Amino acid sequence: MKNLSTRGRVAIVVVLSAVPALALMVFGALEQRTLAESHAREELRRYVRLVAARVEQTMERAHELLIASAGAVPALLRDRQACHEHFRDLMRTDRGPYHSLGMHLASGDLHCDARAWDDGVNVSDRPYFREAVESGRLSVGGYQAGRATGRDGIDLGQPVHDADGKVVAVLFARLDLKPLGELAGASLKPPGTVVTLLDRDGIVLAQIPPPGAHIGARLSEPLLSQPGFAAGSGVLETTDAGGAPRVYAFEGVGENPDGTPPLRVVAGVHQGVIYSEARATFIKTIGSLVAVTMLLLIGGWYGAELMVLRNLRKLLDVARRVQAGDLTARTRLPGGREEISRLGEAFDQMAQSLQERDAELQRALRETRELAITDPLTGLHNRRYLWELLGRELLKARRNRTPVAAILADIDHFKRFNDTWGHESGDLVLKRVADVIREHVRGSDIGCRYGGEELAVILPDTMLEVAVERAERIRSGVAALRLEYGGKPLDTITLSFGVAIFPQHADNAEALLRAADEALYEAKRAGRNRVMVSQAKLQ
Ligand code: GH3
Ligand code: MG
Ligand code: MG
Repeated sequence: MKNLSTRGRVAIVVVLSAVPALALMVFGALEQRTLAESHAREELRRYVRLVAARVEQTMERAHELLIASAGAVPALLRDRQACHEHFRDLMRTDRGPYHSLGMHLASGDLHCDARAWDDGVNVSDRPYFREAVESGRLSVGGYQAGRATGRDGIDLGQPVHDADGKVVAVLFARLDLKPLGELAGASLKPPGTVVTLLDRDGIVLAQIPPPGAHIGARLSEPLLSQPGFAAGSGVLETTDAGGAPRVYAFEGVGENPDGTPPLRVVAGVHQGVIYSEARATFIKTIGSLVAVTMLLLIGGWYGAELMVLRNLRKLLDVARRVQAGDLTARTRLPGGREEISRLGEAFDQMAQSLQERDAELQRALRETRELAITDPLTGLHNRRYLWELLGRELLKARRNRTPVAAILADIDHFKRFNDTWGHESGDLVLKRVADVIREHVRGSDIGCRYGGEELAVILPDTMLEVAVERAERIRSGVAALRLEYGGKPLDTITLSFGVAIFPQHADNAEALLRAADEALYEAKRAGRNRVMVSQAKLQ
């Protein structure tokens, strides 16, 4: 979180605030999927029930046919030929899906048969027959390769009793499996569904589309061993023999005397097929959720830029400029109650006061420096500044190959003013002489107080003749002064001058001032009130 950009944070906040709505949508989508899946299962179940009802109808019809013949049994028992013809006529007129119709004696021996007259057949060992005799009710058998007809089918056995309630015969109908299978396959839904008709032992009687398993063999699907399957009807999800997940709906048909359904219709379909619609809808919903989340992220990303970051970046930029020393930098964010605008305003105020304080400081610094390099009595620069300036000017002159002139001046017999009129008169003389010097220097020339009553003028880029002339002018200017002190006129003031020039007389600052000083000494010696040029020679 620490290294996350503001932009990332805003985007996360936007998405987080949408989380409840998104979660609700995911929950809704899950609900919808569960509902759609259960709906698909219900559809499959309805379909299986429909098929089961059709098969049951066929069985009912056969049952009714047998019951209708029950009244004729005593006569048919007496006359086997008539019995045979009775059932043959019945088959011909009814045209039901039967291989055969006929009658067994209570012993299990075949009494008569609509198709073949196969003497010696006995069915007493068959479960359906035994159940019918024992229960006295209709019983439906399992898969049977026909003994009498030689064709596969299932047998229905309806016992007939005499007046004492003793079973005297069992009327039978052998149902053809093929039309039963066709019934089961009618309007298969959804595509990919496999419908199987099983007998009570789980043996395949018919299968659509054919033939997934061998007719007459036990269905080899794990479904049969599922505890739920024994219930007779329902929906189960389990893997098929190949390990693929399937949804099965199954429904029992009819009821045997032992309470179990003699037949079962099973419809199985791959989970991916039956749930495809539900899952596609779910994926579409989740897809749009992802899209919404992406849009929110993008919105947060660009929204942050538009509403927050632009101003923040401006603030950061200005802060950096101020940090780099540009105290005039301002954010100028539009004022308002919004925090960043207020921050910008506060920042601008801070920069403003920083700028003002800096200006004050600069002024104070300039004043301090001015004081440090100014002589308080004369207002000329002091000796320290003279050295500083001379160093700088000589560097420049060396680079530009230009001359620098130095004039040193000393007030003649200055002590006399002090001695005669007091120290203050000496100060007055010094001030006035300084004024004259100031009058005679050009813009780039610098006048300094070199010592007690010694003064100097540095003239960059000035030839010797010009410097001498300048000294002469100062000399005559000072000589022309008429000063009064305490209401009394002071003596005429004269100055002696020494002039030296770089690079002619010296090649450094000390030597140049020394040369000028020596010339000044010469001027004093020669009688004062004059200008002398240095005689110094460079080795
Ligand atoms: P010379 O012609 O040889 O230069 O003689 P001078 O009397 O001018 O020279 P000297 O160096 O003997 O005297 C200088 C005097 O200047 C000594 C000192 O008391 C005085 N002085 C130095 N600074 C000041 C100042 O600021 N004010 C006053 N009133 N006197 C000063
Ligand atoms: Mg002097
Ligand atoms: Mg002196």
